[in-house]
Amino acid sequence: MQQNIYIKCPLCGEDNTETIYTKGNLSKGLINVICKNCSLVYINPRPSEEEYLEFHKEEFLRDSHGLKDVSQFAEKQESNLRLKGKVYDFLEEYLKEGDNVLDIGCGFGTLLHIIQEKKHCNIWGIELSQLDVEAGKKYYNLNLLNINFDDFASQPENKNKFDFIAMHHTFEHFPDPLEKLEFIKSILKDSGKVYIGVPNILNVKKRPDVFFQIGHPFSYSLYTIGKVLEKSGFKIIKFSNRAAFPGGMEMIISSSPAEKGIVFKKDDYRKVVEYVKEIENKFSLFRRLRDRLFFWLPARLRLKLSRAINRLLKKI
Ligand SMILES: [Zn+2]
Repeated sequence: MQQNIYIKCPLCGEDNTETIYTKGNLSKGLINVICKNCSLVYINPRPSEEEYLEFHKEEFLRDSHGLKDVSQFAEKQESNLRLKGKVYDFLEEYLKEGDNVLDIGCGFGTLLHIIQEKKHCNIWGIELSQLDVEAGKKYYNLNLLNINFDDFASQPENKNKFDFIAMHHTFEHFPDPLEKLEFIKSILKDSGKVYIGVPNILNVKKRPDVFFQIGHPFSYSLYTIGKVLEKSGFKIIKFSNRAAFPGGMEMIISSSPAEKGIVFKKDDYRKVVEYVKEIENKFSLFRRLRDRLFFWLPARLRLKLSRAINRLLKKI
C-alpha cells in the first residue's frame, strides 16, 4: 500500500501534530502522529480509503486474520469461543429474545453463534473473508454475508433494522470512522446499542512496533474515541479497560437521549507521547537483558524465552 495521502486531524480539523512512533508491523516504517490539539493518534501520511478496503480484503486476511482454509476452523474454535465468550459476558445485558443483531467483521461467527444459542436473537454477520463465511455456514449453520459494510448499510431493507450491532476489533480498521458511524446510525433502531472493542493507546501490553500496524489508521484512547462518537451523536454508556484482548478497551454506545453517557477526562497529548516512550523502554530493557543474560542459548530457545517474557509482561 502507498502511504502517500497527507491528512489533517479527522477529529478536530487542525494540522498540528508531533510524531509519536515511526515503526509498525514489526520494524517496517510507519509514521503515527498525535494531534496536539485533540490528542487523536493516526497514521499520516497514509493509504487511500480504496487501498484500505483492498488491503482488508486481501493482505490482512492472508497474512494475519482470516482462515487459511475452511478446516482450520477446528484448531481456532476453542480459543475463539473463549475470547468471544468474554465479549458476550460484557454485552449480554443489552440483548433480549427476538432482537435483530448484526456483527460487523464477524469472522466465522462465533459471537453470533453464542448469541443465537443463549438469547435466541435474529442474527446477521458480515465478513470480508469468504473462507470465514464458508466456515460459519459449515460449522455453525450461520448465513453470514461476504460483503463490505458500506454496501450492506446502503441496502434499503437494512435501514432502522437492528437492535444491537457488535464490532469486535473492527472499528480501528476504518479509515473513515465518522462516515461509518453515520451508516451505523442509519441501520440502528433509535433505542439500539452498539458494542465496540478496540486497542487502547493508553493500555498497551505489547511491543509498540507490534501494537502500531498499517491496518489501524487510528489508535484511540477512551477520550479520543469518546470524542469521535460524540461528534456522531453517540455516548458511551458502559466501559471497561479489561477487554477480552489484553490491552484493549471495550464499550457499549447509544444515541438515545434516554441514556446517560460516561464523563471522561481530556488526554494531555504530552502524556500520551510519554506513555508510548515508557512502553518502548520497558520492552527494549527486557530485550537487552535477555540478550545479555542468555546470549549462550541457541536462538530458538532465546525466542521461546522471549515469548514467555512477553506473556508475563501482558500480566503486569
Ligand atoms: Zn485533532
